[in-house]
Amino acid sequence: LSPPPEPRGAALPLNAAPSSPLPTAPAARRCSGAGGEAEADGSGRATPMLRHLLLKLRATGPVTVAEYMREALTNPGQGYYTRRGGIGESGDFITSPEISQVFGELIGIWYISEWIAAGKPKAFQLVELGPGRGTLADDVLRVFKQLASLLSKCDVSIHLVEVSPKLSEIQALVLTGGKVQLNPKDESAYMKGVSKTGIPIFWYRDIQDVPPGYSFYLAHEFFDALPIHKFQRTEKGWREVLVDIDPEVPDQLRFVLSPSSTPGTVNFIQPEETRDHVEVCPEAGVVIQRLACRIEKDGGAALVADYGHDGTKTDTFRGFRNHKLHDVLIAPGTADLTADVDFSYLRKMTQGRTATLGPIKQREFLKNMGIDLRLQV
Ligand code: SAH
Repeated sequence: LSPPPEPRGAALPLNAAPSSPLPTAPAARRCSGAGGEAEADGSGRATPMLRHLLLKLRATGPVTVAEYMREALTNPGQGYYTRRGGIGESGDFITSPEISQVFGELIGIWYISEWIAAGKPKAFQLVELGPGRGTLADDVLRVFKQLASLLSKCDVSIHLVEVSPKLSEIQALVLTGGKVQLNPKDESAYMKGVSKTGIPIFWYRDIQDVPPGYSFYLAHEFFDALPIHKFQRTEKGWREVLVDIDPEVPDQLRFVLSPSSTPGTVNFIQPEETRDHVEVCPEAGVVIQRLACRIEKDGGAALVADYGHDGTKTDTFRGFRNHKLHDVLIAPGTADLTADVDFSYLRKMTQGRTATLGPIKQREFLKNMGIDLRLQV
């Protein structure tokens, strides 16, 4: 292995509330900025995403960080994952499956061992959320093939939840050699094919489209890409951090605080909260709740791996471009945006429907799964 580029979590910015107090947004809707050509991608050219956001902010005022993050990452026309999705050494950030095949192999073995522990059900679906370049699924499928004698009587299918047309194309190429059918009739999937190892694969935009059934779920660096709301404790109570146009610098964005409470401050801050700055990802809560309901009803297990904490960290929102930290407000759409996953929140949102274990360090999981021995082999 050549030394990998910096992993996404290696260079964490300060884990503290913003050092200088944020300005408060004007209470009323306003029009600001005359609107010249927007600064943006480092080459002096405006990014279409920044132009789109500036128009939106001028028309309707500041937006939540969640809305900003959703636009920047998954806007159907100009979002980072939609157009760029730069995973890998030549991209913007590297992930474990892209560093070594051993990662996916051990996860494949974990699923097989869960399947055996569950009494070898006759069928299971492997459902991966945010499969990136398809490398992880490919490594898991290779393990399934090598253990084919064990799985011979089991009906296995792969279900990928992916919003990015660009990445789903790469996944199709990696997993099926590019032989896929678009918009298959009578199916909730937008694409289907057969893996190089002969297992059917289906693609969906939303977990709700995946058919019910005994399922093993996999989410590797998926939850950290979902939009977060940010909140700051002030003397007047909790305020939501919003994104606005900087009145001092034309076509530049800045963070401001909501002038009063917002639906977010009312609904997402726990009364017993002790931190001064909090990030909440309600979309992650919704997804994990869906997984928990499905597992409760049809059986299965989920493995969630991510940069994260157990309800202790504060300001973790950061951007990556060309393997370097990148200002989250500069040239949106050209950099990956990410925030650490709050595992205590995910656990809470399963509402006791399933047993929840962890989080444990990835190192510990891989060691327990025998990574040292595998590496020697
Ligand atoms: N698991 C891969 C990729 C991680 S990057 C790896 O470890 O290498 C995040 C992935 O989630 C990308 O595939 C991205 O397109 C996808 N994604 C981001 N937001 C999504 C959403 N709301 N729904 C489905 N997929 C999403």
